[in-house]
Amino acid sequence: MDIQDRIEYLRKTLEINSYKYYVEDNPELEDWEYDKLFRELKDLEAQRPDLITPDSPTQRVGGISEKFNQVPHKIRLYSLDNSNNYDELRQWYQRVLKDVGETKSNQLSLLSNNYSDIELASELKIDGLAVSLTYEKGRFVQGLTRGDGIIGEDITNNLKTIKAIPLKLFENVDIEVRGEIYMPVDSFNKLNELQIKNNQKTFANPRNAAAGSIRQLDPAVTSSRDLSIFVYTAILDKSEKILTHTDAMARCKQLGFKVNNYRICKNIYEAISFCMEMEEYRKTLNYATDGVVIKVNSFAKQNELGFTSRAPKWATAFKFPPEEVWSELTDVEFSVGRTGVITPVAVVKPVSLSGSIVSRASMYNYDEISRLDIALHDEVLIKKAAEIIPKVVRSRKTANSSPITLPEYCPCCGEKLIKPEGEVAQYCPNKSNCKAQIMGRLEYFVSKQAMDIDGFGESIIEQLVDKKYVYNPSDLYKLTYDQLLTLNLIKEKSATNLLNAIENSKNVIFSKFINALGIKLVGKESSDILAQNYPDIEKLKSAQYDDLAQIDGIGDKMAKNIAEFFKDKSNLDMIDELLKSGVKIRNKYSQNQNLRLKGQSFVITGTLDTMSRDEAQNKLKELGAKTPNSVSKNTNFVVVGENPGSKATKAKELGITILNEEELINILKGE
Ligand code: NAD
Repeated sequence: MDIQDRIEYLRKTLEINSYKYYVEDNPELEDWEYDKLFRELKDLEAQRPDLITPDSPTQRVGGISEKFNQVPHKIRLYSLDNSNNYDELRQWYQRVLKDVGETKSNQLSLLSNNYSDIELASELKIDGLAVSLTYEKGRFVQGLTRGDGIIGEDITNNLKTIKAIPLKLFENVDIEVRGEIYMPVDSFNKLNELQIKNNQKTFANPRNAAAGSIRQLDPAVTSSRDLSIFVYTAILDKSEKILTHTDAMARCKQLGFKVNNYRICKNIYEAISFCMEMEEYRKTLNYATDGVVIKVNSFAKQNELGFTSRAPKWATAFKFPPEEVWSELTDVEFSVGRTGVITPVAVVKPVSLSGSIVSRASMYNYDEISRLDIALHDEVLIKKAAEIIPKVVRSRKTANSSPITLPEYCPCCGEKLIKPEGEVAQYCPNKSNCKAQIMGRLEYFVSKQAMDIDGFGESIIEQLVDKKYVYNPSDLYKLTYDQLLTLNLIKEKSATNLLNAIENSKNVIFSKFINALGIKLVGKESSDILAQNYPDIEKLKSAQYDDLAQIDGIGDKMAKNIAEFFKDKSNLDMIDELLKSGVKIRNKYSQNQNLRLKGQSFVITGTLDTMSRDEAQNKLKELGAKTPNSVSKNTNFVVVGENPGSKATKAKELGITILNEEELINILKGE
């Protein structure tokens, strides 16, 4: 992959994950994983500043949803640049010293241990959701989320339900403050227990719980959640003559706001020791923190330093490393997935990790057990993955270590396990009667990325299977109100809600429908590729292995699984049943569209003038074309923009037709 492709890839991945994080409050990556990709993009853009575009994630802040009224901020809100090591903090401080005009020798001495007039205010970085609160004559009048920094979402009524936000200040002043809404860790744990009990989705971490609770259309829901705030910025009237951040914070306290403790540091060394202290101290707190924010204290110096396109130059965040903890591996349980795959789960002596008690951790697969050389009664290092599911990342032997015995029989149905050739995993072959597989398929079918049927948690599905109301996913569409009322904890209102959710799922896009079928190895991305290549389910049903294997992004193994899936009569019957129940499938890639570029393959390299590469690829796809990322002998056209990568050279070598942007536009217009 050349640098340009990598940049494109990183931007796309960061954009998708930002949307999940900011708009859907449902992240899939761990923050440190996101930060690692972000940092790589920043480094690559530093090498190739000519490739920086204003819409790059490195140039923008947050995200915004259309759920709420959108209101422009009077003064922009920014993000923060961050470092995950102390060297970078020192470099940041050196830049600060340089930018405020300290002489070289002064810079050196200030970097060591002398007092400077560039004081730093250090405080914990609260892991929550940024909001701005406006007060007029001491009364709370408006509360907005940060949104994209320029426009925020109006959540005034929800914010009014938070007791730590004063509705009236102690003095009748005009002021805007910014702060972080958070949910205390014990309230977060209780909320998740309740969500499980009510068969609702759990929140990944306290930050998501806070964001999900505050961005609710119904303030009554917000009010039922335990939320609080720490204020960390104040925009005061000039007449107040306040000259530093810490004085502004003291003034906020005086007015009735909740402000966290801060420390004034005379230089970066003191700020670094504060970070070290906080790394331990945070573990004693009942709220989530993800770092320390270090700010130049003087407002005059802050003004001198200014901002980049997304963050102040006068502040930076030190991000704490992801938390890890050692515990003893007391047992290994084997769980059965929807495809029958057996997955080992570590059972450990309960330990506290990032504010919750952990007693089970993922080990992914058998390979991982041998790769990490894990034995029973080893000490294992557990780390939080995607914040809520901890995983085992390392092991060390103890006097009691003993090898892990792999099961011979399915822990759910007792069937003898098999190990397909060329695979490391064991499988339960009892597809029809193993309850774990039946439930797994149903849970996958109702999930968000598949048919998206709300309200069907594990316990409802288990009861439906036990009562033999549901076996195949298509049986869900035959459920009756009376059947639902026989389930534990289901009353009239929830039964109606469940039936509505089933009804609403009947209009589904083709890619989600394919995903819902649960074909082995076929996930969200591959389902999308299949929907681009086949106009409807009938065509997909008759797809041959050879054709499938030709498709970019569908590997050999996947093609085999797809072809086999559609040969199995029980699968075809299930699809027929679904269609008979009224499921309507819409293919966004082919409906009402003129697929005049079907079968043609376009690769784009370099920067286009009139559209981004993504836009060009989407337009081509809508006309039926394929847009792989690399040039091969199957490529029909290579579109070459400014600063093309090695793809242009490869296209020339292979004798592929090269197009410029104008020619591409003409093709898109059909000229
Ligand atoms: P950020 O969270 O790294 O830092 C800026 C924010 O810190 C501010 O907007 C403010 O809300 C907050 N903050 C907390 N305490 C503060 C204090 N004392 N003073 C000042 N600000 C304080 O930046 P961001 O732009 O909000 O989000 C980017 C981060 O979000 C990424 O670094 C990543 O960790 C996370 N993220 C994760 C995913 C994912 O998929 N997991 C996706 C997008 C973003």
